Amino acid sequence: MPAGDSQFVVEAKHYEKQPNRKIKCVLCPRECVIDDRERGYCGVRENRGGTYYTLVHSRVCAAHVDPVEKKPFFHFHPGTLAFSIATAGCNVNCKMCQNWEISQVRPEQVESRYLPPREIAALAKQNDCRSIAYTYSEPVIFFEYVLDAADAGRAAGVKSAVVSGGYIQQKPLTELCRHVDAIKVDLKAFSQKFYADIVNGELKPVLEALVTIRKLGTWNEIVYLVVPTLNDGDQEFRGMAKWIKGNLGVDVPVHFSRFQPQYLLKNLPPTPLGTLERAKAICDAEGLQFVYLGNVPSHPAEKTYCPKCRRVVVDRTGFLIRGLNLVKGRCRYCQQPIPGVWG
Ligand code: SF4
Repeated sequence: MPAGDSQFVVEAKHYEKQPNRKIKCVLCPRECVIDDRERGYCGVRENRGGTYYTLVHSRVCAAHVDPVEKKPFFHFHPGTLAFSIATAGCNVNCKMCQNWEISQVRPEQVESRYLPPREIAALAKQNDCRSIAYTYSEPVIFFEYVLDAADAGRAAGVKSAVVSGGYIQQKPLTELCRHVDAIKVDLKAFSQKFYADIVNGELKPVLEALVTIRKLGTWNEIVYLVVPTLNDGDQEFRGMAKWIKGNLGVDVPVHFSRFQPQYLLKNLPPTPLGTLERAKAICDAEGLQFVYLGNVPSHPAEKTYCPKCRRVVVDRTGFLIRGLNLVKGRCRYCQQPIPGVWG
């Protein structure tokens, strides 16, 4: 390792020691078994003499101030800013990844700077951010840093919002939920085939993660990137809507997002608007109450409607909030409670 990198190296959480200085990482469902001096699949965690280390604590390769709507979170402090950070690496390899330049590389392959937790919290405050967002790559693989930054944020009055693929084991997820305030899960499809062929992951642990997040009461929204021909069938949308209704409830916000050709899926077209509208119509018909369309600016499905009186309670265009008709988390017109973190 180049000199000076030791500041990023911290003993990892959630691993088991094995004979012959091997270790088994139990942070994500991949459960990599790693020899001495080797790294796991994600490329950011390394076995050194039978002790496992993260190499990306405080090693930030992307930092931006974004509207929280860009994550997207629509029911979590609308109209506020999120101090958004990432480290290199990921525990899956989605063929449609938007951020593959940082997610599919090792930490030594991208420029990074040292931003310890207290500094992140201070920068968030200086930039008038209501939250820190862990995003762009995959926060599961910089788990230890997320926990420490979230604690520093909490001490400074800044919340934490995680943007994740949800490919994490139950024990670390339970720990994560205690430290952060919101988790957005990218549900990449509702078929194991897509997860096997396009993501190099598994659907089941992601569904289990969604149930746990809900059960523990951490605010959760779901994003589904609709990829033409690969995860855009009526049956798949309906199956997902029924699963959400039966396992999470009808009031979880679901965002259908438009795919743009990139990385290893440049051969496919952008998602037609009609496909997104069909996905929403199927979920609406199944009774889901907050179904949004993303990457289609000025579409009426960007707004939040009261499920009781159908009036607009959050008037949103793109990332801009034009009006907030909520009083103490209730619809201003009919007093129906609207789920979310609004304060
Ligand atoms: S977090 Fe990384 S090292 Fe651990 S099991 Fe997942 S991919 Fe493997």
